[in-house]
Amino acid sequence: MASLGISISSVAAGRPMRSLASSPSCSNNKPFASLNATRSLESSRAPFRLEISYDRRFSDELRRQPLAAARSGPVVAAAEPEPMKIMISGPPASGKGTQCELIKKKYGLVHIAAGDLLRAEIGAGTENGKRAKEYMEKGMLVPSEIVVMMVKERLLQPDAQEKGWLLDGYPRSLSQATALEDLRIQPDLFILLDVSEEILIERVVGRRLDPVTGKIYHLKYSPPENEEIAARLTQRFDDTEEKVKLRLKTHHQNVEDVLSTYKDVIFKNRQKRSIVVL
Ligand code: ADP
Repeated sequence: MASLGISISSVAAGRPMRSLASSPSCSNNKPFASLNATRSLESSRAPFRLEISYDRRFSDELRRQPLAAARSGPVVAAAEPEPMKIMISGPPASGKGTQCELIKKKYGLVHIAAGDLLRAEIGAGTENGKRAKEYMEKGMLVPSEIVVMMVKERLLQPDAQEKGWLLDGYPRSLSQATALEDLRIQPDLFILLDVSEEILIERVVGRRLDPVTGKIYHLKYSPPENEEIAARLTQRFDDTEEKVKLRLKTHHQNVEDVLSTYKDVIFKNRQKRSIVVL
């Protein structure tokens, strides 16, 4: 059994204001998420902090060991704690990228983004990449036979197994969730970012990438520092108003299916605004 806590607190106030959920739940020996949080956001750019505390205790089997030891001799080895596994989901521009950077840095998890894996295939000019791009341009989900294998293989790489993982943008359908369940791959925590559509569209349309540093800017809210950077910024091919509306529709159509699979370990922000995590 494990405990996993997550809290969002106002940096300005420096203390959590309201508890969204505080009683840990645990069923079928699954790890549980314990959530403490926040006050509602007053501005879409309010600085908020996401804290995850993790404490994986001995599994039921290990806790039974002293009894076994009394019968058969001393226990000579203790199990290493399992690495943390987190999934994060949210509509386009809900702040997944920002949250992922911070979580990854703080907890040393391997960040695996389904969209990045697909863009890497497109960049490499593979057959899968060419097929994937056709769907991505329409704001549709790429067929599972392409995405599922890609994600499974990445999750099973030694770095993700050793350090734990933060899976971003996957699963986006029931069949994708089931594919992981079949392999007994389950998250300790599923973070769902919920942001109003109006804010999302504005954020997507103004979003730009600096291809040199990888930094994400927003033309209005986070403009580039100088002319040189401004001149080299690029826009994602699917970051237009028309395409983001399609992507949002796809997200809403699929998200409920995915949530039912992870209902025991979900953390959802309720502010319907963008959040910035420090
Ligand atoms: P966003 O979350 O902003 O839509 P992503 O980079 O996560 O951006 O995804 C970009 C596109 O890649 C999606 O619109 C979709 O076409 C495709 N994609 C990403 N993840 C998946 C997935 N798990 N299953 C199917 N298609 C996906």
